[in-house]
Amino acid sequence: MSPAPNRLLRAAVAAPVFDFWSRQFGSIQAWDRCLARVVARREEARGAVTLTLQPNRRFAGFTPGQHLNLTAEVEGVRLTRSYSFTRPPCADGRLRLTIKRVENGRLSNALCELRPGAVVELGQAYGEMSLPQGPGRYLFLAAGSGITPLMALSLALEQNPQAEATLVYWAQRRDELCFAEELRELAARQPRLRLHFALTREPLRLAGEFGRRLDAALLDEVAPDLSALQVFACGPRGFVEDARRLTQERALRFHGEAFTPPEAVAGGAPVRVQLLRSGQTLEVPSGAPLLAALEAQGLHPDSGCRMGLCNTCACRLVEGVGQNLNSGETLAEPGSELRICISAARSDLTLDL
Ligand SMILES: Cc1cc2nc3c(=O)[nH]c(=O)nc-3n(C[C@H](O)[C@H](O)[C@H](O)COP(=O)(O)OP(=O)(O)OC[C@H]3O[C@@H](n4cnc5c(N)ncnc54)[C@H](O)[C@@H]3O)c2cc1C
Repeated sequence: MSPAPNRLLRAAVAAPVFDFWSRQFGSIQAWDRCLARVVARREEARGAVTLTLQPNRRFAGFTPGQHLNLTAEVEGVRLTRSYSFTRPPCADGRLRLTIKRVENGRLSNALCELRPGAVVELGQAYGEMSLPQGPGRYLFLAAGSGITPLMALSLALEQNPQAEATLVYWAQRRDELCFAEELRELAARQPRLRLHFALTREPLRLAGEFGRRLDAALLDEVAPDLSALQVFACGPRGFVEDARRLTQERALRFHGEAFTPPEAVAGGAPVRVQLLRSGQTLEVPSGAPLLAALEAQGLHPDSGCRMGLCNTCACRLVEGVGQNLNSGETLAEPGSELRICISAARSDLTLDL
């Protein structure tokens, strides 16, 4: 790990100058920014790559089940998205992220092409999904790239002898399953993890695999004791919503994290959005996620996960009516906090942005 810049140097050199020259000399040391170097790359499954990153000392650590915001430059534009740690913290201080390519996805495809030596910028870890020490019974429901934080939590079971879990992991085809062999080995040596794969577009199935989507009958089969379980569901928005609908009322606790952005509400007439800090007024479709609508007009407001989880894009509503596209709730109280990645304008709006 590179040493942090010493105090004398801090007093003498401006941060951007230090960072510039540090990068010129091939170092990931930086004043306040958390930079990380790609030290290994591995094809994890069809369309998914695991990157091993060595962060500088600005990175403050994480717990299994958390995520971070990662920023990289693609064709001259800095893009930020969230990715989950796929391993519990390791003694070498390195971080493992597994990135699944998204069709036409701007950052996921660029990250899958990175090679050792590349440098990216990281935010600090965030997220509420964790296994506290002590007894706990869990149902992990993962679809697609939603396996990543649940992989870290499955590995973390080994450190908590009083926790047990059932993991059901959906993919369309077998060759898209990440960590399949590792998960089988983990379940074989760790009876406190029960493992099921579900493949929705694979005609050939192995013993113990399901061939259908999440439904009540499948739940009864894998979790007949649902009322005693804490459910963690991660994956595309529709999947997490299905999991919520089927389990929230019956399980001990439900925690869902959607990895795909909310959809626009149809039929929106144009409205005017005034941005006080940048002094701009733009016309955007009402009902569309504000972040995407502003980006479509060439603006780049600060943003992170794009799903309403990390709060990076939150700003103050000064005037007008906004709507949270996840919950449907409207926001009209001046001073309320509005996360523009999951909010739409429902009238002309003024934002402290
Ligand atoms: C908390 C959190 C953790 C995440 N962890 C991981 C992870 O560990 N591994 C991982 O691969 N991804 C993860 N994601 C998703 C990731 O943040 C990006 O959304 C994804 O990589 C797509 O980014 P992009 O720039 O390629 O796509 P964009 O250019 O932003 O979007 C392109 C198109 O794809 C759609 N889209 C956006 N995201 C997805 C998606 N996830 N699946 C399908 N379609 C999508 C958009 O609606 C758009 O139409 C996580 C998301 C969150 C919120």
